[in-house]
Amino acid sequence: MRQGLSEELITRVLGAAPKYTIAELEEKFPARNLPDGAFVTRFAPSPTGMMHLGGLYGALIDYKLAQQSGGVFMLRIEDTDTKREVADAVKIIVSSMDRFGLKYNNDDAYGPYYQSRRKDIYHSVVADLLRRGLAYPCFLTADDMEKIRAEQKAAGFPTGIYGEFARDRNLTEEEIAAHLDAGEVPTIRLYSMGDPSRRIFCKDAVRGSVGFPENNEDLVLIKSNDGLPTYHFAHLVDDHFMRTTHVIRGEEWLPSLPLHVALFRMMDWAAPLYIHTSTIDKIDDETGKQRKLSKRKDPEANVEYFLRDGWPTESVLEYLFNIAASGYEEAKNKGAVKSVWEYEMRPKKIPMSGALFDMKKLEWWAKEFIGALPVPELVARVTQWANEYGDDNNKMQVADRDYLTAVLSIERDNPKRVRKDFITWRQTLENVAFFWDALFVPNTEFEYNRDALREFLAVYNASDDKDAWWSKIVAIAEKLGIKNGDVAMSLRVALSGRTNTPDLYSIINVLGENRVRQRIGDILK
Ligand code: GLU
Repeated sequence: MRQGLSEELITRVLGAAPKYTIAELEEKFPARNLPDGAFVTRFAPSPTGMMHLGGLYGALIDYKLAQQSGGVFMLRIEDTDTKREVADAVKIIVSSMDRFGLKYNNDDAYGPYYQSRRKDIYHSVVADLLRRGLAYPCFLTADDMEKIRAEQKAAGFPTGIYGEFARDRNLTEEEIAAHLDAGEVPTIRLYSMGDPSRRIFCKDAVRGSVGFPENNEDLVLIKSNDGLPTYHFAHLVDDHFMRTTHVIRGEEWLPSLPLHVALFRMMDWAAPLYIHTSTIDKIDDETGKQRKLSKRKDPEANVEYFLRDGWPTESVLEYLFNIAASGYEEAKNKGAVKSVWEYEMRPKKIPMSGALFDMKKLEWWAKEFIGALPVPELVARVTQWANEYGDDNNKMQVADRDYLTAVLSIERDNPKRVRKDFITWRQTLENVAFFWDALFVPNTEFEYNRDALREFLAVYNASDDKDAWWSKIVAIAEKLGIKNGDVAMSLRVALSGRTNTPDLYSIINVLGENRVRQRIGDILK
């Protein structure tokens, strides 16, 4: 600890007198009145211009743990990196939360929820540390730091601002005043009292107690360029005054845990419980090694990819949920639960090692989900997707709702034997594209039994029921001395261009007489 700064100097260092005392802040943001065991969680993205799949995974865990415990889930925008601000970045986060149904509760007295609007609060807390000699203004320039770094490297020391390298940690009041008089704007650094030869034990709710060397770096708490906090300091202040009970964040923050625990101890505040989640990985195409999904290399790292491609948001959530709560799949298969919202997630079971992102498995969830969707909803979801993300053909396909409904109703009347061949909204429309003349591609390779087609046209009656229709197929087969299946196959391919389709009678019915005669006629030309 160093000598604390006078109130006058604190005001000069911060550019204004601190607005609150710690006691006032405690009163302004009181302990939340929630039932025992309620989780208060937050999703705290930095607005980078995209929503990462790993972010969605974390947000889902946050939301779920709060939801199932009668707690509170907040969305905190960590917009302290004013140098890297991206237009519309917050909109992207908010709309992703919306689309995935992760409802946050920011309408309360614990905000503002944008860190850029909380400067008064951070400055009030850092003033307390300055007063107590636990933080200090530091006037090192980028050049100074570069020199220190080079020196440390040459000597084989760890780099960073610590101990003897922390030039300004013991400046006198007069020296500080002189720097300020010269117009220099300081960063505020932690006056670290950690000793890396000692170990600090930090609790992670999943990993248990993890031992680390104590932190001895005088890390920046408040930046000089904009007076905003670093992640570390904002985490301390916000998670305390927002009364977060569980901080669920990526494992890249695990190494910072000793610093965070030390900060909470300095303030004599109880630290939240931490859960450091593993990354979502993939096998790298080039190296064959497992690595984190990369924003730069992998389109599927961006949540937007799944929206554009038309994956049901529910399935993406189910897929991610099952990584965090692996018993869900079995419970869903057994019919014990219908959705993730009914299945209890146990924090202790959240995995610690990287989960491989498996597109095939996501497909399975999507097929199951779409398979169980009632037709009117299927139609509505496909239509919504086509109008938002689809191309002109997709839009044309959804323009006639009755026709689309008829197409998508095929083989969906028996809930026990639902077709599972739809994966995404886009692929659903592609799968049934042959129902539209403009998209129908006649199969010119197939060897049709032209006699069978001719015979069929002669006896075809659009009002035949299924039995009457089938007897006609059987009669044609007998007459030509071929199998029933051969007659049906020629018809199937003539009408759909494909050898594999759902129920042929339904296809004929939905296409209607004109299209049926036209398509068969075209083959016979
Ligand atoms: N803004 C931090 C990040 O995006 C938040 C980490 C946390 O949840 O505390 O990694």
